[in-house]
Amino acid sequence: MTLESQLRADIVEVGRRMYARGYTASNDGNISVRLGDDRLLMTPRSVCKGFMTPDMMCVTDLDGKKLQGDRDPSSEMLMHLEVYRQRPDARAVCHAHPPIATGFAVAGIPLDRAVLAEVLTTLGSIPIAEYATPSTSELPAAVRKYVKAHDGMLLANHGALTLGTDLFSAYYKLETIEHFAKISLVARMLGRENLIAREEVDRLQGLRANYGIQAPAPICPDPSVVGDLLAGPDPLTCQVVQAPEGDGRRLVPDPIVAGAPAPGGDPQGPDGDQEIRLTYRELSALIEDAIRSLR
Ligand SMILES: [Zn+2]
Repeated sequence: MTLESQLRADIVEVGRRMYARGYTASNDGNISVRLGDDRLLMTPRSVCKGFMTPDMMCVTDLDGKKLQGDRDPSSEMLMHLEVYRQRPDARAVCHAHPPIATGFAVAGIPLDRAVLAEVLTTLGSIPIAEYATPSTSELPAAVRKYVKAHDGMLLANHGALTLGTDLFSAYYKLETIEHFAKISLVARMLGRENLIAREEVDRLQGLRANYGIQAPAPICPDPSVVGDLLAGPDPLTCQVVQAPEGDGRRLVPDPIVAGAPAPGGDPQGPDGDQEIRLTYRELSALIEDAIRSLR
Protein backbone atom coordinates (compact mmCIF):
# COMPACT_ATOMS: atom_id res chain seq x y z
CA MET A 1 0.00 0.00 0.00
CA THR A 2 1.42 3.42 -0.92
CA LEU A 3 1.59 6.26 1.60
CA GLU A 4 -1.23 8.07 -0.22
CA SER A 5 -3.57 5.09 -0.23
CA GLN A 6 -2.82 4.52 3.47
CA LEU A 7 -3.65 8.17 4.25
CA ARG A 8 -6.88 7.97 2.22
CA ALA A 9 -7.88 4.88 4.23
CA ASP A 10 -6.92 6.65 7.50
CA ILE A 11 -9.14 9.66 6.68
CA VAL A 12 -12.04 7.28 5.99
CA GLU A 13 -11.45 5.62 9.38
CA VAL A 14 -11.18 8.91 11.30
CA GLY A 15 -14.38 10.18 9.60
CA ARG A 16 -16.15 6.95 10.56
CA ARG A 17 -15.08 7.35 14.21
CA MET A 18 -16.09 11.04 14.31
CA TYR A 19 -19.57 10.21 13.01
CA ALA A 20 -19.95 7.08 15.18
CA ARG A 21 -19.11 9.08 18.32
CA GLY A 22 -21.61 11.79 17.43
CA TYR A 23 -18.98 14.48 16.81
CA THR A 24 -20.66 15.30 13.51
CA ALA A 25 -24.21 15.20 12.19
CA SER A 26 -25.20 15.01 8.54
CA ASN A 27 -22.33 16.39 6.41
CA ASP A 28 -20.58 18.32 9.21
CA GLY A 29 -16.85 18.26 9.86
CA ASN A 30 -13.73 18.01 7.73
CA ILE A 31 -10.34 16.32 7.82
CA SER A 32 -7.04 16.95 6.02
CA VAL A 33 -3.51 15.57 6.07
CA ARG A 34 -0.23 16.62 4.44
CA LEU A 35 0.70 14.61 1.39
CA GLY A 36 4.35 15.59 1.12
CA ASP A 37 5.58 19.15 1.61
CA ASP A 38 3.37 20.97 -0.86
CA ARG A 39 0.14 18.98 -1.17
CA LEU A 40 -2.83 18.12 1.05
CA LEU A 41 -5.31 15.28 1.03
CA MET A 42 -8.71 16.61 2.14
CA THR A 43 -12.27 15.45 2.65
CA PRO A 44 -14.72 16.66 -0.03
CA ARG A 45 -17.57 19.04 0.73
CA SER A 46 -21.13 17.84 1.35
CA VAL A 47 -20.52 14.22 2.29
CA CYS A 48 -21.32 12.45 5.55
CA LYS A 49 -18.01 11.68 7.28
CA GLY A 50 -19.37 8.34 8.47
CA PHE A 51 -19.74 6.88 4.98
CA MET A 52 -16.76 8.09 2.95
CA THR A 53 -14.66 5.96 0.59
CA PRO A 54 -10.94 6.50 -0.17
CA ASP A 55 -11.59 7.61 -3.76
CA MET A 56 -13.71 10.60 -2.58
CA MET A 57 -10.72 12.59 -1.25
CA CYS A 58 -9.36 15.71 -2.97
CA VAL A 59 -5.70 16.57 -3.48
CA THR A 60 -4.95 20.31 -3.24
CA ASP A 61 -1.85 22.47 -3.05
CA LEU A 62 -1.18 24.69 -0.03
CA ASP A 63 -2.98 27.60 -1.73
CA GLY A 64 -6.15 25.54 -2.04
CA LYS A 65 -5.95 24.80 -5.77
CA LYS A 66 -7.48 21.44 -6.53
CA LEU A 67 -4.97 19.12 -8.20
CA GLN A 68 -6.92 15.88 -8.19
CA GLY A 69 -10.36 14.48 -7.31
CA ASP A 70 -13.87 14.33 -8.75
CA ARG A 71 -15.36 16.41 -5.94
CA ASP A 72 -14.70 19.88 -4.55
CA PRO A 73 -12.62 20.15 -1.38
CA SER A 74 -14.18 20.91 2.02
CA SER A 75 -16.02 24.21 2.46
CA GLU A 76 -13.70 24.85 5.46
CA MET A 77 -10.56 24.47 3.31
CA LEU A 78 -9.46 28.05 4.10
CA MET A 79 -9.32 27.23 7.82
CA HIS A 80 -7.21 24.12 7.15
CA LEU A 81 -4.82 26.05 4.88
CA GLU A 82 -4.38 28.68 7.61
CA VAL A 83 -3.43 26.03 10.17
CA TYR A 84 -0.76 24.57 7.85
CA ARG A 85 0.50 28.07 7.05
CA GLN A 86 0.88 29.02 10.73
CA ARG A 87 2.11 25.62 11.94
CA PRO A 88 4.76 23.99 9.72
CA ASP A 89 4.85 21.15 12.26
CA ALA A 90 1.17 20.29 11.67
CA ARG A 91 0.71 17.19 9.51
CA ALA A 92 -3.06 16.82 9.98
CA VAL A 93 -6.15 18.85 10.94
CA CYS A 94 -9.57 17.70 12.22
CA HIS A 95 -12.71 19.79 12.62
CA ALA A 96 -16.04 18.60 14.03
CA HIS A 97 -18.97 19.69 16.23
CA PRO A 98 -18.68 17.43 19.31
CA PRO A 99 -21.80 18.39 21.26
CA ILE A 100 -20.51 18.88 24.82
CA ALA A 101 -17.39 20.81 23.77
CA THR A 102 -19.50 22.80 21.31
CA GLY A 103 -21.90 23.55 24.18
CA PHE A 104 -18.98 25.19 26.02
CA ALA A 105 -18.16 27.08 22.81
CA VAL A 106 -21.78 28.30 22.61
CA ALA A 107 -21.78 29.29 26.30
CA GLY A 108 -18.51 31.19 25.79
CA ILE A 109 -16.73 29.10 28.44
CA PRO A 110 -13.19 28.09 27.42
CA LEU A 111 -11.79 24.77 28.65
CA ASP A 112 -8.88 26.47 30.35
CA ARG A 113 -9.11 25.40 33.98
CA ALA A 114 -6.42 23.17 35.51
CA VAL A 115 -8.63 20.15 36.05
CA LEU A 116 -7.09 17.06 34.43
CA ALA A 117 -3.38 16.21 34.44
CA GLU A 118 -3.38 14.52 31.04
CA VAL A 119 -5.08 17.51 29.40
CA LEU A 120 -2.50 19.88 30.93
CA THR A 121 0.43 17.81 29.65
CA THR A 122 -1.01 17.34 26.16
CA LEU A 123 -3.16 20.32 25.16
CA GLY A 124 -2.48 22.80 27.98
CA SER A 125 -5.49 25.06 27.57
CA ILE A 126 -8.32 25.00 25.03
CA PRO A 127 -9.32 28.59 24.22
CA ILE A 128 -12.28 29.81 22.18
CA ALA A 129 -11.61 31.46 18.84
CA GLU A 130 -14.00 34.38 18.31
CA TYR A 131 -17.15 33.76 16.29
CA ALA A 132 -16.72 33.85 12.54
CA THR A 133 -19.02 32.92 9.69
CA PRO A 134 -18.25 29.30 8.70
CA SER A 135 -16.53 28.73 5.33
CA THR A 136 -15.58 32.44 4.96
CA SER A 137 -12.15 34.03 5.34
CA GLU A 138 -13.29 35.27 8.79
CA LEU A 139 -12.76 31.81 10.24
CA PRO A 140 -9.04 31.49 9.37
CA ALA A 141 -8.54 34.99 10.81
CA ALA A 142 -10.21 33.96 14.10
CA VAL A 143 -8.16 30.75 14.30
CA ARG A 144 -4.87 32.55 13.54
CA LYS A 145 -4.85 34.23 16.97
CA TYR A 146 -4.63 30.93 18.87
CA VAL A 147 -3.22 28.33 16.51
CA LYS A 148 0.48 29.13 17.00
CA ALA A 149 0.32 28.23 20.71
CA HIS A 150 -2.50 25.65 20.80
CA ASP A 151 -3.04 22.22 19.25
CA GLY A 152 -6.78 22.38 19.97
CA MET A 153 -9.38 25.10 20.32
CA LEU A 154 -13.11 25.70 20.41
CA LEU A 155 -14.74 27.82 17.71
CA ALA A 156 -17.40 30.12 19.20
CA ASN A 157 -20.95 28.93 18.38
CA HIS A 158 -19.54 26.38 15.97
CA GLY A 159 -17.34 23.45 17.07
CA ALA A 160 -13.77 22.34 17.74
CA LEU A 161 -10.52 22.27 15.78
CA THR A 162 -7.40 20.16 16.41
CA LEU A 163 -4.06 19.55 14.71
CA GLY A 164 -1.31 17.00 15.14
CA THR A 165 1.93 15.57 13.85
CA ASP A 166 -0.11 12.80 12.22
CA LEU A 167 -3.79 12.20 11.50
CA PHE A 168 -4.56 10.05 14.52
CA SER A 169 -2.84 12.43 16.95
CA ALA A 170 -5.03 15.25 15.60
CA TYR A 171 -8.13 13.05 15.94
CA TYR A 172 -7.26 11.89 19.47
CA LYS A 173 -6.98 15.52 20.56
CA LEU A 174 -10.59 15.96 19.40
CA GLU A 175 -11.54 12.98 21.58
CA THR A 176 -9.61 14.48 24.51
CA ILE A 177 -11.40 17.83 24.17
CA GLU A 178 -14.86 16.22 24.13
CA HIS A 179 -13.96 13.91 27.04
CA PHE A 180 -12.61 16.86 29.04
CA ALA A 181 -15.78 18.86 28.29
CA LYS A 182 -17.96 15.99 29.54
CA ILE A 183 -16.00 15.62 32.78
CA SER A 184 -15.95 19.36 33.36
CA LEU A 185 -19.71 19.58 32.75
CA VAL A 186 -20.42 16.77 35.25
CA ALA A 187 -18.16 18.38 37.89
CA ARG A 188 -19.88 21.74 37.42
CA MET A 189 -23.33 20.08 37.67
CA LEU A 190 -22.19 18.46 40.92
CA GLY A 191 -21.35 21.96 42.13
CA ARG A 192 -17.61 21.71 42.59
CA GLU A 193 -14.64 21.66 40.24
CA ASN A 194 -11.51 21.49 42.38
CA LEU A 195 -8.53 22.82 40.48
CA ILE A 196 -4.95 21.60 40.27
CA ALA A 197 -2.68 24.14 41.97
CA ARG A 198 -0.21 26.27 40.03
CA GLU A 199 2.81 24.48 41.53
CA GLU A 200 1.45 21.11 40.39
CA VAL A 201 0.67 22.54 36.93
CA ASP A 202 4.34 23.62 36.69
CA ARG A 203 5.39 20.10 37.71
CA LEU A 204 3.12 18.56 35.04
CA GLN A 205 4.48 20.95 32.47
CA GLY A 206 7.98 19.69 33.34
CA LEU A 207 6.84 16.14 32.50
CA ARG A 208 6.00 17.02 28.90
CA ALA A 209 9.58 16.28 27.81
CA ASN A 210 9.51 12.90 29.61
CA TYR A 211 6.43 11.92 27.59
CA GLY A 212 7.96 13.20 24.34
CA ILE A 213 5.25 15.87 24.01
CA GLN A 214 6.28 18.73 21.73
CA ALA A 215 3.95 21.44 23.02
CA PRO A 216 3.78 24.53 20.79
CA ALA A 217 3.92 26.93 23.79
CA PRO A 218 4.40 26.94 27.57
CA ILE A 219 1.58 27.09 30.11
CA CYS A 220 1.39 30.63 31.51
CA PRO A 221 -0.31 32.04 34.63
CA ASP A 222 -3.90 33.16 34.39
CA PRO A 223 -3.84 36.99 34.28
CA SER A 224 -6.93 37.21 36.52
CA VAL A 225 -5.00 35.28 39.20
CA VAL A 226 -1.71 37.17 38.95
CA GLY A 227 -3.69 40.43 38.87
CA ASP A 228 -2.22 41.74 35.64
CA LEU A 229 -5.19 41.87 33.31
CA LEU A 230 -3.77 44.55 31.03
CA ALA A 231 -0.42 42.89 30.39
CA GLY A 232 -1.79 39.35 30.31
CA PRO A 233 -0.11 36.50 28.48
CA ASP A 234 -0.25 36.59 24.72
CA PRO A 235 -2.36 33.75 23.21
CA LEU A 236 0.13 33.70 20.34
CA THR A 237 2.90 32.51 22.65
CA CYS A 238 1.18 31.15 25.79
CA GLN A 239 -1.32 28.54 26.89
CA VAL A 240 -3.25 30.39 29.59
CA VAL A 241 -4.47 28.03 32.32
CA GLN A 242 -6.57 28.95 35.37
CA ALA A 243 -4.65 27.45 38.28
CA PRO A 244 -4.73 29.13 41.70
CA GLU A 245 -1.77 29.30 44.05
CA GLY A 246 -1.92 26.17 46.18
CA ASP A 247 -0.38 27.19 49.52
CA GLY A 248 1.49 23.89 49.52
CA ARG A 249 -1.63 21.92 48.58
CA ARG A 250 -1.82 20.18 45.22
CA LEU A 251 -5.59 20.61 44.84
CA VAL A 252 -7.48 23.75 45.74
CA PRO A 253 -11.19 24.58 45.70
CA ASP A 254 -12.75 26.03 42.62
CA PRO A 255 -12.37 29.83 42.99
CA ILE A 256 -15.86 30.29 41.55
CA VAL A 257 -17.50 28.45 44.46
CA ALA A 258 -14.85 29.27 47.07
CA GLY A 259 -16.31 31.30 49.90
CA ALA A 260 -19.78 29.92 49.28
CA PRO A 261 -20.68 26.90 51.38
CA ALA A 262 -21.34 23.73 49.43
CA PRO A 263 -25.05 22.94 49.09
CA GLY A 264 -26.12 21.72 52.52
CA GLY A 265 -22.66 22.55 53.90
CA ASP A 266 -21.89 24.20 57.21
CA PRO A 267 -21.08 27.91 56.78
CA GLN A 268 -18.76 27.61 59.77
CA GLY A 269 -17.16 24.44 58.40
CA PRO A 270 -14.17 24.12 56.06
CA ASP A 271 -16.03 26.03 53.32
CA GLY A 272 -16.42 28.99 55.69
CA ASP A 273 -12.62 29.36 55.77
CA GLN A 274 -12.27 29.76 52.04
CA GLU A 275 -11.10 32.81 50.20
CA ILE A 276 -13.68 35.39 49.19
CA ARG A 277 -13.18 38.21 46.71
CA LEU A 278 -14.22 41.80 47.44
CA THR A 279 -14.13 45.00 45.47
CA TYR A 280 -12.06 47.87 46.92
CA ARG A 281 -15.32 49.65 47.81
CA GLU A 282 -16.59 46.61 49.76
CA LEU A 283 -13.22 46.14 51.46
CA SER A 284 -13.07 49.84 52.43
CA ALA A 285 -16.60 49.63 53.89
CA LEU A 286 -15.66 46.57 55.96
CA ILE A 287 -12.53 48.28 57.32
CA GLU A 288 -14.52 51.43 58.17
CA ASP A 289 -17.10 49.28 60.01
CA ALA A 290 -14.34 47.53 61.95
CA ILE A 291 -12.75 50.87 62.93
CA ARG A 292 -16.13 52.25 64.05
CA SER A 293 -16.76 49.20 66.23
CA LEU A 294 -13.34 49.68 67.90
CA ARG A 295 -14.14 53.29 68.92
ZN1 LIG B 1 -17.99 23.19 11.19
